[in-house]
Amino acid sequence: MDPGQFPDKWGRFGQFGGKYAPEVLMPALEELETHYLALRENPAFAAELDLHLKEFVGRPSPLYFAERMTKKCGGAKIYLKREDLNHTGAHKINNSLGQVLIARHMGKKRIIAETGAGQHGVATASAAAKFDMECVIYMGRVDMERQAPNVQRMHLLGATVVPVESGSRTLKDAINEAIRDWVTNIGETHYVFGSALGPHPYPRIVRDFQKIIGEETERQMLEKEKRLPDYLVACVGGGSNAIGMFYNFLDKPSVKMIGVEAGGHGVLTGLHAARFAGGTLGVLHGAKSYVLQTKDGQIAETHSISAGLDYANVGPEHAMYRDLGRIQYTSATDEEALDAFGQLSRLEGIIPALESSHAVAEALRLAPTLSPDKLLVVNLSGRGDKDMATVIAAMEEVKKTAASKGAAAPGMPRP
Ligand SMILES: *Cc1c(COP(=O)(O)O)cnc(C)c1O
Repeated sequence: MDPGQFPDKWGRFGQFGGKYAPEVLMPALEELETHYLALRENPAFAAELDLHLKEFVGRPSPLYFAERMTKKCGGAKIYLKREDLNHTGAHKINNSLGQVLIARHMGKKRIIAETGAGQHGVATASAAAKFDMECVIYMGRVDMERQAPNVQRMHLLGATVVPVESGSRTLKDAINEAIRDWVTNIGETHYVFGSALGPHPYPRIVRDFQKIIGEETERQMLEKEKRLPDYLVACVGGGSNAIGMFYNFLDKPSVKMIGVEAGGHGVLTGLHAARFAGGTLGVLHGAKSYVLQTKDGQIAETHSISAGLDYANVGPEHAMYRDLGRIQYTSATDEEALDAFGQLSRLEGIIPALESSHAVAEALRLAPTLSPDKLLVVNLSGRGDKDMATVIAAMEEVKKTAASKGAAAPGMPRP
């Protein structure tokens, strides 16, 4: 199978994806696709993107051998792809930079975006500042409170942050408002979608800007180990860092891939964002995929300790590879992610984002079951500075629970 044949000309990945958008957006989506397809063939655009990826983003990101974590697990050799070292602290900038460049070539003067944890907002505000574009970021009121430092960063970068007060006041509602803005200001505005989601051509464009992660990983692994990795592990919110890591390896059958969703309080509690565990076929924000919904077809409330994984829909390309059995999906709970967060910090001196901690949690489960000649790569999608308040609050909670049971307060789990 050739992964390059997807999406088809209708924007579908098998039965998933598509372009379920209001009629007024159709001309803008077509304009975007036409410009993007032309720019892809343009060597000057490729050179421009390449330069900024090097000098603004800081690519290539290292492939780091996690020696102490490997020793602790006592199995497969663990490597980390260090997307946390990118400018602005996550993989999001690969896509924001690319889309802002497209917008510039399209003659757009105004950039809008949605954000959950604020990482996509910060990345987009940074790219917009660099290229002198007006920038408006939509963010749910709840997320603005739990990710306050990122709101301040966006302000410093010259962006306007619009609080969204509707619905659950989180990412889903921020996307609704951003779409509303786009419909109203369509002429001069480009909407920078933040994940491998949304109506066609977004899932394809975002994947194309993120696939550099897997391409670099292959090159770096061949240099270090003279062969391909055996396992790739990445967390899956909308799915952009995961498809960015996996895409280059889809046609290499020896490479196994595991996507890790947010298990929240556990998939049996209903308080999670594991679409492949509890989702059914549905449409949300322009794409058909596995959606967490009520039996009446309303979008279900999701829960995750990490704002970046806390969303009811999953990228359509993932849905296709899941049904084909090419990529395996699992989940990690809030508790497992917090434990992994602590372990990576103490073992390697690297504080991961809570999103990425879900992938680290799966590596901690999987590596000990594999033999030492196996190579496992975790996509470390971002750094954890933004999560300090959340983690400290969670630790306090753990201490309180332990104290009320009369046990000694455990603090952060020590490896
Ligand atoms: C946004 C975010 C994610 C989740 O988004 P994907 O599109 O699934 O990659 C994961 N990790 C970090 C650090 C993020 O900021």
